Amino acid sequence: MITENSIKNQPLIQTVSESHWQKQLANAYRSPESLLAALDLPVNQAHFSKQAEQQFSLVVPQAYVDKIKKGQWDDPLLRQVLPIDDEMQIVEGFGLDPVGDKQAMVAEGVLHKYHGRVLLLTTGACAIHCRYCFRRHFPYSKANPAKSEWSDALGYIAKNDDISEVILSGGDPLVLSDSRLQFLCESIASISHVKRLRIHTRLPIVLPDRIDNQFLAWFETLDLQKIVVVHVNHAQELGVDVAKVLSYLKSVNTLLLNQSVLLRGVNDSMKALSTLSECLIKNEVLPYYLHLLDRVEGASHFNVSSKEATKLMEGLRDYLPGYMVPKLVREISGEASKQPVE
Ligand SMILES: *Cc1c(COP(=O)(O)O)cnc(C)c1O
Ligand code: SF4
Repeated sequence: MITENSIKNQPLIQTVSESHWQKQLANAYRSPESLLAALDLPVNQAHFSKQAEQQFSLVVPQAYVDKIKKGQWDDPLLRQVLPIDDEMQIVEGFGLDPVGDKQAMVAEGVLHKYHGRVLLLTTGACAIHCRYCFRRHFPYSKANPAKSEWSDALGYIAKNDDISEVILSGGDPLVLSDSRLQFLCESIASISHVKRLRIHTRLPIVLPDRIDNQFLAWFETLDLQKIVVVHVNHAQELGVDVAKVLSYLKSVNTLLLNQSVLLRGVNDSMKALSTLSECLIKNEVLPYYLHLLDRVEGASHFNVSSKEATKLMEGLRDYLPGYMVPKLVREISGEASKQPVE
């Protein structure tokens, strides 16, 4: 039996690592120097930016590093994680809170922008730091509901009976320990009008060992329909280790979807996008959204124009079965849903 008291004193991310995955997270690469050395690339300051690293630190777990091709500066996975000078450019239209999250917070850590579903910011932490992340400037320490054991958030959901789906997001919710997650998920399941639990996470991709037996055992018993939306931008991220844990999630009745961000130099080609969709379907993951980049300061070098994006989508539609084509969307502050880009 998990009680609020029994988990109250646990730190958010357990530094005294108990599980294999927690050790891997503690041992993730945390400097450009160590990452480049592991990839047989010259540790030369001309190729990375200390200043950008100070703004948003480097974090990359070994399982992701293993999928980066050695000795290649233009590797599409390396580009997602290495801090570079381009991030220091100030470009008009790229701001600090591009999606209006600060205004949408209705209770501590709860974003309620769309009908029928709320998004919970469960933690500010992630197992990887994606350079293009729209949350790179978000005030997480103030937005973190975990310190009050989500009581405000759960109270808000309980009193709004048109909420049928709760989305765990962050940061990355699967960075939380099993006991904290289980407490949160079971609390949500006890609210009768909530039917579905959705988890937005990159951990099955970047730290697949997170989906271990202990997690699967309690997750399977959860009395809610389960949807896990993973985040894969390039087929190279889908190794055999990832395929294995995706099948484990499926085996405990989880619907698997993917969201990607369209990123210059990573997946802005027909070949990259079509291969990604084919690999996702091979793993029984449906391509859900392809997001246009959120216009966050420091990410402008990843931007692909909407004109170019729609052209890529036309190409994909002509080339792939319909179920392999994700919806191209962008988030516009104040709108009632993610907006299709046509
Ligand atoms: C993206 C998002 C959702 C989920 O939107 P769907 O279209 O249902 O995937 C929900 N709430 C917030 C605040 C979001 O940003
Ligand atoms: S895992 Fe998601 S939330 Fe975390 S840094 Fe990457 S894009 Fe941002």
